[in-house]
Amino acid sequence: MLRGAGPATLKALASLGIATLGDLLLHLPREYEDRTAAVPLSRFMDRKVYTLARVVRHEWFGAGRMRTLKIFIDDGTTEAALLCFNRPFLEEIAPVGSSVIVHGRFQFRFGEIQSSMFELRHTSNGLQLADHLDPVYPLASGISQASLRKLVSSALSKFADHLEDEVPSALRAQYGFPDKSTAIRHLHFPPDGNAAETARRTLAYEELFYFQLGIALRIRARRARTRVRAPFTGVLARKLLDRLPYSLTPDQHKALEAIVHDLTKPYPMARLLQGDVGSGKTIVALLAALHVVERGGQVAIMAPTELLARQHAQTAAHLLEPLGVRLAFVTGSVQSAARPPLLAAIEEGTIDIAIGTHALFSDDIRFRNLQMVIIDEQQRFGVLQRVALYRKGEVPDLLMMSATPIPRSLALSLFGDLEVTTIRTLPPGRKPVITHLAAETRREEVYEFVRKRLAEGRQAYFVYPVISESDRVGLRDAASMADHLGKRVFAEYKVGLLHSRLPDDEKMEVMAAFAAGSIQVLVATTVVEVGVDVPNATVMVIEHAERFGLSALHQLRGRIGRGAHQGYCFLIYSSTITDDARLRLKALYDTVDGFAIAEEDLKIRGPGELLGTEQSGSLRLRIADLQKDLDLLQHAREDAFALVEKDPDFSSPAAKLVAEVLRRASPFADR
Ligand code: ADP
Ligand code: MG
Repeated sequence: MLRGAGPATLKALASLGIATLGDLLLHLPREYEDRTAAVPLSRFMDRKVYTLARVVRHEWFGAGRMRTLKIFIDDGTTEAALLCFNRPFLEEIAPVGSSVIVHGRFQFRFGEIQSSMFELRHTSNGLQLADHLDPVYPLASGISQASLRKLVSSALSKFADHLEDEVPSALRAQYGFPDKSTAIRHLHFPPDGNAAETARRTLAYEELFYFQLGIALRIRARRARTRVRAPFTGVLARKLLDRLPYSLTPDQHKALEAIVHDLTKPYPMARLLQGDVGSGKTIVALLAALHVVERGGQVAIMAPTELLARQHAQTAAHLLEPLGVRLAFVTGSVQSAARPPLLAAIEEGTIDIAIGTHALFSDDIRFRNLQMVIIDEQQRFGVLQRVALYRKGEVPDLLMMSATPIPRSLALSLFGDLEVTTIRTLPPGRKPVITHLAAETRREEVYEFVRKRLAEGRQAYFVYPVISESDRVGLRDAASMADHLGKRVFAEYKVGLLHSRLPDDEKMEVMAAFAAGSIQVLVATTVVEVGVDVPNATVMVIEHAERFGLSALHQLRGRIGRGAHQGYCFLIYSSTITDDARLRLKALYDTVDGFAIAEEDLKIRGPGELLGTEQSGSLRLRIADLQKDLDLLQHAREDAFALVEKDPDFSSPAAKLVAEVLRRASPFADR
């Protein structure tokens, strides 16, 4: 497809994600180089300079192998120095008195205007102004900027005129987008910056439009899977409500209503219940599950960790068993003797609700009548698992819960096939956690503070990035610190240790002891990040806080402030903290609002890192940038959904074109 390119070039292109001509034409320039106008040296602040200058003198600095030439030039507006690192040959190319063309980035340092990133040429053919900007592409080793430009430009001259428009012309007209040929040309060699941005947005819209069409079609396919539903009255759920020591918040009520309403529809539910840490999603999920149980269906509740699954099982046992609901606990560690009867019960349908880890969906587990799947902390699972679950026969009602609020851009894209319900308010009486940033040197003061809270009867978490010393030298680790804190710092209290490498029953023992208050200080790794609910624990100390991601920190902080007492979070950071990490900690310090934090996290890390490769991989966006193009995303979604709605058979000419494009290159063929 990329004929003419040698194997080395093809390899370099492949590492840039370019395998086809189409990939090449959509290789997005990182920026553009502007040689359409001369820019005087004195204007270097605003932009890259492109100017004709006279060489005024040479100087050398440094000694030995470090000896470096400095060429001073003057273009009539000001004087500047060119630092010729590794380019001593410029001495002969640009002798004093000669005229040169200089193109480069300048800065003001050490009292002069200087550049070490510049190109320099003789004036032989003068200062040639271009009629377009030049693309600056992301590169890989094995291919140069110049050769990539040449490749793109020859591909453009051969193919750009033959590109068909893939967005219906009415839509293009509505947004004032140029045709595809123009957009592709201008993406690479635009006449000016505005044209470049218009081209990018045109192609971004096209990409998002087809992305959204895929979502619209997926929703349509799900809704086509109709079935007859047994009725329910909600009697079981009401019994549970009567037994609760609190009443639901208005948001919890609304969320429950929305879910129950879904359960009356003839097609499967796909709903995301999001709510900040501690907002009370679990009870909503259990109440919803009771409706399914009432009408004879089975429910699976899946949690990302054994610890959390166990906690849910305990909560459920406490709340549901008195109602006669039959529960099972299924994790990878439920093996041997206990397993066969458990599996048999699930298969016979004598279990109503199975609670566990992803082991719930291992091959040997067959449900008799699985009607609803609840996935807690769904941000911990990949999209792929969501799909695997769907393949298990009949499509169940799906309720996903997330405490990492999904930023709007992702709600409209990656999660665009889900209905979203949000619990915004926390249960009454909660006080926002007070967060402190503390340099390492102030650790003793933090300990002192913790000691006071312990004396008042509260409990504390200490979280470390690694389990033991051997995991990463130079970092404080949970095992050594548990020892140190237990023996030296909080000798009068009981200090427990919790991490993922402990045997499961030991984990459960420690957790139970902490929940019961017989352990006052829990030293842990991020295993306590999700779900753990011990309201009497009011202090969280996170060491090497700069090593944790923003949402992990927010989740950790969410372990406290769950009861009536004021919660405190200390983020202890090392002196070697990076700027990025500083931003993260500052964001956490500035707000306790999980939504704001999620948006911030998305900005700092981008969707790839935020979701892990598995989830973000399915986005596969080349041109569009979810944050920058949020407006386009919204429009593309409305337009795509409207098309599917108005013309479900794709019979109009515009829709026919769209259907044809979808057939040719559906990025969703595998979903
Ligand atoms: P999350 O949304 O983070 O999963 P949980 O479901 O674990 O939150 O709830 C956090 C705590 O709040 C639990 O101890 C739960 O019993 C309690 N809770 C839930 N709803 C309410 C409410 N309406 N009023 C008071 N406490 C509540
Ligand atoms: Mg939860």
